[in-house]
Amino acid sequence: MTIEAAFFEMTRGLWCGAGDCGRTPGEVDDFVARAAGAGFNLLLPELKGGHGLLRYPSREFPQAVEPGYSDFDLPSLLLASCRKRGIELHAWFIDFFEGEGGPAYAAHPEWAARNAQGRPTNEETLRGERFTGLWMCPAQRPGYSDQWLVPILREFAERYDFDALHHDYVRYPGDLAPDQYCFCDSCIESLPQWAGYVNEARPDEAFDHALYDREYLEAHWEQSPRVLPAYWDRLHRAERSRFLLEGGYFRYGRQDLDYFFYRWRTEAIVRFVREAAEAVSGARPGMGLSAAVFKNPVQSGRFIGQDWREFSPWVDTLIPMDYRDHFPGSFDDYLALLAEAVGRQKVWASEFKRYLPGFALWPLVQGGENETERGARMRATIEILQTESPQGWVMFCAGDLEKYRLWEALVE
Ligand SMILES: [Zn+2]
Repeated sequence: MTIEAAFFEMTRGLWCGAGDCGRTPGEVDDFVARAAGAGFNLLLPELKGGHGLLRYPSREFPQAVEPGYSDFDLPSLLLASCRKRGIELHAWFIDFFEGEGGPAYAAHPEWAARNAQGRPTNEETLRGERFTGLWMCPAQRPGYSDQWLVPILREFAERYDFDALHHDYVRYPGDLAPDQYCFCDSCIESLPQWAGYVNEARPDEAFDHALYDREYLEAHWEQSPRVLPAYWDRLHRAERSRFLLEGGYFRYGRQDLDYFFYRWRTEAIVRFVREAAEAVSGARPGMGLSAAVFKNPVQSGRFIGQDWREFSPWVDTLIPMDYRDHFPGSFDDYLALLAEAVGRQKVWASEFKRYLPGFALWPLVQGGENETERGARMRATIEILQTESPQGWVMFCAGDLEKYRLWEALVE
């Protein structure tokens, strides 16, 4: 295959804000034409935002439709426009991040993720200011995952013939207190059952080991002694939460319960990813799923419950967000670390049908660089991705191409 042929096989994707796609049929078609002219062959329009609202006329969740989108069928217009140009289309959904004024939280405040004190995320402080976003609990059942998100994805798949649905924020909070969620009532109740911290058939038995005859205390784990303290039911929720994160399997052993806490979270996310895929393929066989994920699944498993290596049976296209601000050092450091990251990700992502590293424009131009320098940085990043990732790449985002006046540089 020639270099030119390889280029045309390559996926070049663009995340797009709903507003960037236009507000009239003509504007939508112009936007798609412009993206096609710049070489993009995959568009990912944001159809459920971080405020919890849907940018299409949902019939099952009319209370969640953003004003202006109940009479304006953006997905249908995008479909028509992309189909005639052979452009692939993924519907971008913000999963577990909702606005504090969003309809899910208004109707079901009990579905929100809560910290040890029982408070939702919009009571946290981030960089000196109140955090106004609302994270929902991924683990609670019935809850936000199975009563809200999965039905929304199912309805979308039934109605719109998109190539795929696209997960984003498919995780626990990160910049906000990564170890403090979720300790909602449901998680405090369910995690010990899931982990087997108490034996249901003999709930009051401590089941201390008969012998303790092995040199290493933890070597006596396999009989599943009662892990919860005898006075568990009398503890304040904050102390129960602390025990679930910082306690030990053995009272005098290592403080190892965080292992189970982190595993509980990664399983909750994977379970949602599986249920979403089952709902989508049940509604429209052949429809795909893609996901925006963090750059290192080993680390994101621990910090945000996102070990995406486990998504592979239910996600076809994996898109790690290799953004400049997710790497330390100078711009040159970034290019070197990016090439290394892509090399590692290709191994982790080997079970996925398609691997497309993503990059973001805005952190490339943090220092107020001029237009020429911005274009040069964008080209340098794309060159590395095209060299290291033969299947393609995805750019964030259409609005920033406009804001930093980079459409022309891209066409070149
Ligand atoms: Zn919870």
